[in-house]
Formats: sequence, structure tokens, C-alpha cells
Amino acid sequence: MAAVFQAALQAARWTMRVDSADPSIVELLRTVGEAADAMAVVATAREPRVISLRGSLTTVSPGSSTLLDGLTWAIGLWAATASGDSAVAVRLARAQITGASAAVPGEFNLAAAMGAWWTGRSIGPPLIEALRSTDPQTSTGFVRDYGLNVVAPAVAVIRELAGGRDGAFFDAFRDAQTLFGSFWFAEGRGDASDGFLSLPLAGLAQVARSFGLTVHASSQAVPAAVLDVPVTTLCCAVCYQPFKDSEATCQWCAADLGADAPIETTIGQLLGQPSQPCPVCGQPCRLNALWCWNCTTSLR
Ligand SMILES: [Zn+2]
Ligand SMILES: [Zn+2]
Repeated sequence: MAAVFQAALQAARWTMRVDSADPSIVELLRTVGEAADAMAVVATAREPRVISLRGSLTTVSPGSSTLLDGLTWAIGLWAATASGDSAVAVRLARAQITGASAAVPGEFNLAAAMGAWWTGRSIGPPLIEALRSTDPQTSTGFVRDYGLNVVAPAVAVIRELAGGRDGAFFDAFRDAQTLFGSFWFAEGRGDASDGFLSLPLAGLAQVARSFGLTVHASSQAVPAAVLDVPVTTLCCAVCYQPFKDSEATCQWCAADLGADAPIETTIGQLLGQPSQPCPVCGQPCRLNALWCWNCTTSLR
């Protein structure tokens, strides 16, 4: 699974280098997210689980808890978000990742903020952590430059995105893409394929577009192709959690997904919808949910 993850990620980066509007970039990013989801199951689940990988269902068994590090998780979450795969984004957002070890400082917190958004929690605390880690007083060299040019501008983009003002978002997004491009094209870094594509900015572009904000994708950071994917997200009619169309049973509340018509929504509507804590388990549930996704308590 780790090999699938790496191969798809590298292929997405190099395809971006050739043609940022190539729709196969979106397919590759979806595979990156699905492979990370499979690794999350191996690393954190207690029982075998059926997951969707490249259009078909596969059973994954629990295994080594070291398979999923913080960086892999962050990449998977952003790749799922960028490809419009809400179901995998929500699953990864709820995976119990404790270590941020392999991530550049701030990058894990940035993804944690997106994960909080997907699961109806506050994005404030992880964003503050991300910004704290970019303090130029406490770091040097690559980490300092990365914090200032890659992490901090992406934090500004999330804040403007949550604020929802088109002009302020447009400016923050343009600046973040420019800084990302100039950071990676600086002398000595030009060969690093990490710099061909910004996964956080690609993910945020997808969210912004679903909110109806104006998004301009520069070919040095965000694939124009992510702005062309279909926007519909299907949610379980019972617990209001997103699922993939290859699935017959809700991963969360175990409802038969064929029994009731699914809720057709968009990423923007899903992320924009308020949550309320379940009265029994306390997990955030979308306001329209009939049951808690976590403990199946009736919310009506
Ligand atoms: Zn459900
Ligand atoms: Zn509950």
C-alpha cells in the first residue's frame, strides 16, 4: 500500500510538471488519499475493514502501527480533499494519528486544521499551533524558510477561506502560490519534486471553489485539473457522513445505503454546515443527521 501511495504521489507531481490541467492528476490524487486511508486502517484499526481503492472494494487487515506517519497522513488528507473525495477525507480526519514526527514543523498542524474542519471541530487551535511553529525566532535554515514561505501563507489562506470574503481570499491564495513557487524554485531546490505541486493549496482550492469563491490556479503550485472535478458529495441519509458510490453500507452507522436516497450535497455545503455534540458520546454531528455517526444515538 505504501508503494501505491508513493507511486501515485510521484506520478501526480510529474504529471503536474508536464500539464497542470491533465485530469489524470485528480485520479492520481484520489488514489493517494485512498492508499493513505488503507494505511490508516492497517495502522489504527482493530478489525479488518472494507475500503474502496481505485473503484473497487478491498478488505484491509490491521497490522503494523508504524505504517502511517504524520506526513503520510497529512499528504493523504490533502490529496483526498483536492480530488473532492469527501468520504476518504473524513475517514483520514478521524484516524488516530499521534505522531507528527516525519512532517516539517507546521505541516502536520495545517493538515490537522483541515481535518478538524472535515469533522466539525474548531480549526482555531491547530492553526495557532501551525503559526507558532513558523516563528522565525525559533528556527533556522530550511525549516525557517519553509515556515515563512509555505506554512504561514497556507494558514492565511485557510483563515480567509473560513472568512468567506472573495477578494481577501483571492489575494491570500495568489500570494501563497507565488511564495510556494519561489521557495521551491530557489537555487538548490529546483530538482525536488515536492515543489511541483502544493497539496495543501490544491486541497484549499477545491474547498474554495465549492464555497463559490474565485480561485486562480497557477501552474507552479495548484493543478487547474482539481477545479474541473464533479462537485457532488453523497452523504448517508441517516448519519449525514459522506460515502463513496462503490459502498453499500455506511462505514459509520452501518445503515444500508441503498435503503434511502442518499443526500446529494457539495463539499462547501458539508463543511459549511454547523455541528452539534451528540448528547451521549459528545462527538460533533451535522445538524441534519438523524443518528450520531459514532454511537448511533437518535438525534431527533
Ligand atoms: Zn451512516
Ligand atoms: Zn454519539
